[in-house]
Order: sequence, then structure tokens, then C-alpha cells
Amino acid sequence: MVLRIVPPCRNCGGGGWYRMPDPAGRGDTVRCEPCNPTPPPPPMTPAELRDNLRTIGWSQEALAARLGYRSGTQVERWVKGTAKMPEHYAAWLRGVAQQVAANPPPRS
Ligand SMILES: [Zn+2]
Repeated sequence: MVLRIVPPCRNCGGGGWYRMPDPAGRGDTVRCEPCNPTPPPPPMTPAELRDNLRTIGWSQEALAARLGYRSGTQVERWVKGTAKMPEHYAAWLRGVAQQVAANPPPRS
């Protein structure tokens, strides 16, 4: 007899155990990872974009220049919410903001 510590995936009954919170709050495994892959990060909202720029200390124009845009028009669309920031740019900007937030300058 095999002692199962973690119950099988409720979707496929298979292995490859992946612990995740049960929506009902019982805390047992609901689905294995192949049946319930990690969802992609949410899109960058205009508010989050502004927060990230404030954290880093970049203007919209500075971000545009970093991304190789010749003007700030596209960044302005993301800030206004009339266009969605591409996910690879969003992931990169989140990473930069986290780095800056985690590395304050030394006190004099
Ligand atoms: Zn499964």
C-alpha cells in the first residue's frame, strides 16, 4: 500500500503533486500543475505604471527613450489607458522598480 500524503489531482487524478490552497479553504491539493498552470501576471494598469515610474524616478519620456521610442506618445497611451503595455515591457519595468525599491542609496 502506498501512503498518499497529498491527495491526487481532482481534475486528472494524476501525480506530479502540486500543493495549492483549496478554494473551499480545506488546504489540500486541488489540481496538479499541468491542470492548473501558474496564471500569467496581470497586465500593467495605468496606476501601476505611474507608481513604477515614480519609484524609479523616470519621466514618461525617459521610459520611452529607454524603450527606443522616438517620442513619448506610446508611453502616454499606456499611462492614459488607451493602449495596453506589452507584457514583456511590463515584466521588465516591474523588475526595474523592484530593484530600485530594494536598493535605496546609502545615507551620507
Ligand atoms: Zn491534474
